[in-house]
Amino acid sequence: MGLVEKPISLESKGYGNLGQESPKDLAKAHGNEGLEWAWMLEEMKRIEVAQKNKMGQGSPKDEWAKEAQNNDDIPPKKGKDELESLGACHRAIQGIHAVDYVVTNTAANTTGGSRFNNEIGSKYSKQTLTNATNFTWKIFQQKTTADRKKVAKVSLFIEDIDGVAYAVNNEIHVSARYIASYSGDVKREITGVLFHEMTHIWQWNGNGQSPPGGLIEGIADFVRLKSGYVPSHWVQPGKGDRWDHGYDVTARFLDYLNGLRNGFVADLNKKLRTGYSANYFVELLGKTVDQLWSDYKAKYGN
Ligand SMILES: [Zn+2]
Repeated sequence: MGLVEKPISLESKGYGNLGQESPKDLAKAHGNEGLEWAWMLEEMKRIEVAQKNKMGQGSPKDEWAKEAQNNDDIPPKKGKDELESLGACHRAIQGIHAVDYVVTNTAANTTGGSRFNNEIGSKYSKQTLTNATNFTWKIFQQKTTADRKKVAKVSLFIEDIDGVAYAVNNEIHVSARYIASYSGDVKREITGVLFHEMTHIWQWNGNGQSPPGGLIEGIADFVRLKSGYVPSHWVQPGKGDRWDHGYDVTARFLDYLNGLRNGFVADLNKKLRTGYSANYFVELLGKTVDQLWSDYKAKYGN
């Protein structure tokens, strides 16, 4: 946990451009933290050398030892298997791209804010945000950072506001009043809400070509549907008057379309990265969205 989070905390302290500073400079400038970071950079270099030589002169371990001998500024780490250490550093370097999550309850002195602390909590929320991100990437089939929106930090606020929740500027705002008034398993409900809002953080929105708002909300509830955190008040499949009604109605429809073409929602979201056209439905499924809606309604006898 510490290793993965460290690069972000280093950056936030103004230790940016880590790749361009020499390990020695880092160590000099930043004391113990810089030294730890310097260690990672050094060991990453050793991984590269080791990998280059894997089929050649020596094993990665030999190379590491040789490199360490040549570098008398920073002594080799002791008491740990070197390769295990290299693996940890590799994971730490990957951690540079990890998303940071911050939870703030500004309504702690209200009934809902207090209920949040007692029945949900910051720790659970942070874990849920992490899970929701990973789950959304999976549903969207975004395997690499190039496929995803570039977001370094997501902040969750519990606030004394009306409504349920909204997402804006990589922030999720949840209403403490809603938490106060919810009857039932509020932890489960807010988990579902966070899956919906986190989808808004990661989904593509048509690049200025204004897809129907109901489609955007439907995709967010589709991810919530797939997560399993579905509230009992949602409509059943086949219900609703319009395909772009949004929320549960559109989520159920998208689930039907996803059944016609595995990965349909992921493919649609990919297309929404560069624009929006109703013709996307034809391109992906061979029928207009109105025809697909008719088929869907007919299937459920509505
Ligand atoms: Zn929404």
